[in-house]
Amino acid sequence: MYASDRSRLQALIERFSQFGATANGGVTRLSLSKEDVSARDCFVEICKELGMDIKTDDMANIYATLPGKKECPPIVIGSHLDSVEKGGRFDGVLGVLTGIEAIRTLKDNNIELEIPLMLVNFTNEEGARFDPAMMSSGVIASKFNREEMLTSSDKNGITFQEALQASGYEGEQENRLTEALAYIELHIEQGPVLAAKDCNIGVVEGVLGMVCYEITVTGESNHAGTTPMSMRKDPMIVASRLISSLHEQLGKIDDKLVFTFGRMNVTPNIHTVIPNKVVFTIDSRHQSPEVMRQVEKVLTGVAAEENGCRIRPVKLWGRDTVFFDEAICDEVEKSCHNFGYSFNRMFSGAGHDAQYIASIIPSAMIFVPSIGGKSHCEEEETEFEDCAKGADVLLRTVLALQTKFSRSTLNQY
Ligand SMILES: [Zn+2]
Repeated sequence: MYASDRSRLQALIERFSQFGATANGGVTRLSLSKEDVSARDCFVEICKELGMDIKTDDMANIYATLPGKKECPPIVIGSHLDSVEKGGRFDGVLGVLTGIEAIRTLKDNNIELEIPLMLVNFTNEEGARFDPAMMSSGVIASKFNREEMLTSSDKNGITFQEALQASGYEGEQENRLTEALAYIELHIEQGPVLAAKDCNIGVVEGVLGMVCYEITVTGESNHAGTTPMSMRKDPMIVASRLISSLHEQLGKIDDKLVFTFGRMNVTPNIHTVIPNKVVFTIDSRHQSPEVMRQVEKVLTGVAAEENGCRIRPVKLWGRDTVFFDEAICDEVEKSCHNFGYSFNRMFSGAGHDAQYIASIIPSAMIFVPSIGGKSHCEEEETEFEDCAKGADVLLRTVLALQTKFSRSTLNQY
């Protein structure tokens, strides 16, 4: 077991937090911006010093590979260097920097790998400058079409294609990550669970499935003073009863189900007029496809006529639960046991590059605790000691997988 160098990792995190540093201790490092390119340059420089080969693909994803003794597909560690506007110093970048620390620790201990080890920086994970999020992992996993992505533009009208060309990091399509033995992404939790359970590490088994429905209740507008209560077709009253009823029905399905009535629009939204239309959304997430089916049954079942109003649900979008590779999750858990770190098996409620990469490469994630559960803000914080524990678990997992693959899969190479 090899422990990472705490102070070296802290210095590296602090060095990268200078790229796009904000006045309040956060970073603004939008994808392919000047600040992002500076961070990329620094990443490439460090990887070259470590003897790694650098390639980029047609989405400007950067691949740095430490050769192994065998010529075979690599084990991959990846995440993203870009951030949201006024984001934190850990989101994304930590998965790349703990990868660098893992390789430095290997060098410290004169360990030569059998299998190549690749570090990846995925372009535009946040989707903060160019919609959608997880754009480039999505393109290489065939979730998105590259030609369509090229036309996505930022708030200044600059297209992704223009930013890609100006960055100097646009490479060849043939360099895309297509084949690897495993993909591991370390990330901050971005939620309060690990800290609340006093755990060092999250063993992430997948990404929660979700659905988002929009429910429209249509009634009839009329004068707020002259229309007797018994003669109204008021969608606001119907909608509020419906929300209470859904809260009760969905609350009984499963303890771990989360759901949010996040948006409501009232028409015409005037205090002297009975509304004629109320539209609200419900976002719901859970790991079990069966639970999500029950949720959808409840939501599609609300279609009705009530008190003169019409209720109609429409599904806006959904995603199936992504399950990570069990064998890799088990190795992450064993790594926690080996170091004596407390851990929690969990699902991610947020999206990550790993959810798309999982469709082409066996994948898993490692979470480290977020202080106060805060993320996508300048107050985002993780203890440096927890970052180092994450790096320990990451390296031990890579070494365990390499031993396993060397014994089995590699006979074919
Ligand atoms: Zn992230």
